Amino acid sequence: MMKQLVLAFSIILVARMLAANETSNDAYLENDVVKIPVLSVGESVYRLDLQLLPNSNPVQLKMISAQDVTELKPSTAGASTFANNIVTIPFLANAKASYRVELELISTNPEVILELKDARISAWINRKALGEDAITFANVRSRLADLPDIAWENTQNLLEANKDSSKTAGIVLKILKGPTTQLYYDGSESSFEKAINLWANFSQPREYLALFYNFSDKAWALTQFDLPGLIDAPCTQSECTGGNSGIPTADGLGVGVFGISQKDSTDTYRYGPLQIHEYTHAAQCAPWIGLNNNPCDGQQSMSPCWLTEGQAHFLGISGSFPSFGDYKENRDRQVNSHPVESFQDFSAEKIMQFYNDDIPRTCIGKPNYRLGYTLGMLTVEVLSAIGGSESTMKIYELGGMGQTFEEAFINVYGISWTEAKPILADVIASLHADVYM
Ligand SMILES: [Zn+2]
Repeated sequence: MMKQLVLAFSIILVARMLAANETSNDAYLENDVVKIPVLSVGESVYRLDLQLLPNSNPVQLKMISAQDVTELKPSTAGASTFANNIVTIPFLANAKASYRVELELISTNPEVILELKDARISAWINRKALGEDAITFANVRSRLADLPDIAWENTQNLLEANKDSSKTAGIVLKILKGPTTQLYYDGSESSFEKAINLWANFSQPREYLALFYNFSDKAWALTQFDLPGLIDAPCTQSECTGGNSGIPTADGLGVGVFGISQKDSTDTYRYGPLQIHEYTHAAQCAPWIGLNNNPCDGQQSMSPCWLTEGQAHFLGISGSFPSFGDYKENRDRQVNSHPVESFQDFSAEKIMQFYNDDIPRTCIGKPNYRLGYTLGMLTVEVLSAIGGSESTMKIYELGGMGQTFEEAFINVYGISWTEAKPILADVIASLHADVYM
């Protein structure tokens, strides 16, 4: 049967490169076409376009394009498969929901026609079979001690798996420093490369411009990117010390600004984690490139602040340290930083309240925003232990397709945010108490 389908690909092209706009293995919809970037057929791999036949009942699809991508050796993790005459698409999302779809091959001549055999609601984390040892929302309360280790390992495994990815080849990285600025860390380039590698399976800015400058070089920074609000963002009245990053352009140019002040030179967070953190903010906005003149507007409208900062912080730290001990030490230090005077009780009840009060966009600039670096980071750590370190970025990808945070959450994790929240609050209260001094 495999041969039958392969023979039927009368219009097969042997692809010389993967489609530039396709980063994930997940199938997706483009108008009335189901695009399957990666279809495993035995030892071979294809990319297919299937067009819905209007008014067909049951629904039928016609193959309108097929390419043999075997030679390009794409990863087949979580990909669609063809076996026993059935194409299985493990994850296909629309603007509301996500499905697992089975299509049966019913004709190969004169055209390849597939018929919808089954479609059921299915979550992204279930596109692959889970191991027996997997951490789930059902068992996470009994796996507290394993969580930091497994989450950190998931990030390291992701970096390893994406190491030779060709998907990031087109992304331009430009790092500039002010004429009088003295850097205390010379590894920023490799840290940004790590960040790009980390998000290889997702949309990213087409180019990332990173500007490093001290207070006297602010005027120089403006000549590199003329957006005074952004250039001022990492600076106070007398020094530049912070970081800020996003995609402030309609055409997908990401910009990161990094204040340089010698007093920060003893802070290990600035030796890699900060760079990945800030680049991740740009990647968070990338699903809205082409949809929004200021792509980060789209991201901010759908994302609670704990997720924005928690994701950037967890990936920054877990991606930077190849040793678990170093990860744990830096993570614990972060949990003990960023105090908020009006928030001192870290009980599960108060953490629930924190989640409930964290409303997209209105959360920006509120005192609790800083808890994104502590409670938010721990929440993303737990989500990464359950769903892998890419799972929170999948929320933004689905957001770019029009889903709300709540819709995207259930479509990624298979549990509603309402049900997940008390479990997470409970677990985070314990993880926090473990290291909070
Ligand atoms: Zn941040």
